[in-house]
Amino acid sequence: MFKAIIIEKDDAGYRASVKDIDEAQLPAGDVTVRVSHSTLNYKDGLAITGRGPVVRKFPMVPGIDLVGTVEDSRHPGYQARDAVVLNGWGVGESHWGGLAQKARLKGDWLVPLPPQFTPQQAMAIGTAGYTAMLCVLALERQGVTPDKGEILVTGAAGGVGSVAVSLLSNLGYTVVAVSGRPAEADYLKSLGASEVLARSEFSSPGKPLGRERWAGAVDVVGSHTLVNVCATTKYRGVVAACGLAGGMDFPASVAPFILRGVTLVGIDSVVCPRPDRLVAWQRLATDLDISKLDLITHEIGLAEAIPMATQLLDGQVRGRVVVDVNA
Ligand code: NDP
Repeated sequence: MFKAIIIEKDDAGYRASVKDIDEAQLPAGDVTVRVSHSTLNYKDGLAITGRGPVVRKFPMVPGIDLVGTVEDSRHPGYQARDAVVLNGWGVGESHWGGLAQKARLKGDWLVPLPPQFTPQQAMAIGTAGYTAMLCVLALERQGVTPDKGEILVTGAAGGVGSVAVSLLSNLGYTVVAVSGRPAEADYLKSLGASEVLARSEFSSPGKPLGRERWAGAVDVVGSHTLVNVCATTKYRGVVAACGLAGGMDFPASVAPFILRGVTLVGIDSVVCPRPDRLVAWQRLATDLDISKLDLITHEIGLAEAIPMATQLLDGQVRGRVVVDVNA
């Protein structure tokens, strides 16, 4: 038996609770992992609360991230006692996920835990941090170097935003953070932001083009915020769009793209091919100031993840949440 958060949906409604599960109920897979830690991402918040249609079948164990030790493997790449990390691949949505003491997965989904990180640090990064790295890699690929000018990060006090600010600043970029929480300005400056702007400057409908300011941007918000970020991006600047915390719509004009040559790059972490994941994790190991992870992260036990999911979706959680599934 092992403990897991289980999401159920039936005539009694949609609910999440911690239950004891028989190992025989684990889904099919060629690697069984003894999970040590998971995390709470925005998507996990949607799954646990039912506020977004993330869960594809019931009952479901949420948790799009996990770190742990291989207990049993029929996959040629892994053997017992290997330390592994999993991010995405529909785990926690259509395949039982990481908010549990055990998981059975496809070995092809796993990546080895980079030796530079403890299990807790790998989950402090989690999908949010690995997505922030994918955004930075996209900016680099499009030629955005630190000398090109300021980089804007929206939703900056959240998980993706906090890691993006920290990473970019460590790489020598001048980072401007956007946050709806003025009280987090000192936190964001301690991560390396040179300036913190109010969310309200970006969240209402704006003009098709504004004053050119950003050489690049990482946007986790979508909707009018993403539109306004594009409208104020400099000639040939690059915007990496990865989130929808403010809405899934994109009520935009083509003006920034056809008059300023702005590039909008979409970022997906879920089915991102394995070679790109390995590069992202390798770059996190070299380019993230690990000492900043403590500032970004706090740790909770498995049952606490349920109430914390609501707080996360309400924008009340700072940085990253690591879940010790054995506490
Ligand atoms: P968090 O909840 O940790 O952070 C989101 C942040 O967005 C909040 O902290 C807040 O920052 C800001 N925010 C929240 N609500 C609003 C709003 N209504 N309008 C404007 N800003 C808002 O989530 P994550 O960082 O984990 O994820 C951020 C987004 O990125 C989510 O939409 C998530 O689904 C997406 N994502 C996408 C991935 C992909 O593969 N494409 C992978 C990972 C995440 P502040 O208080 O500073 O304003």
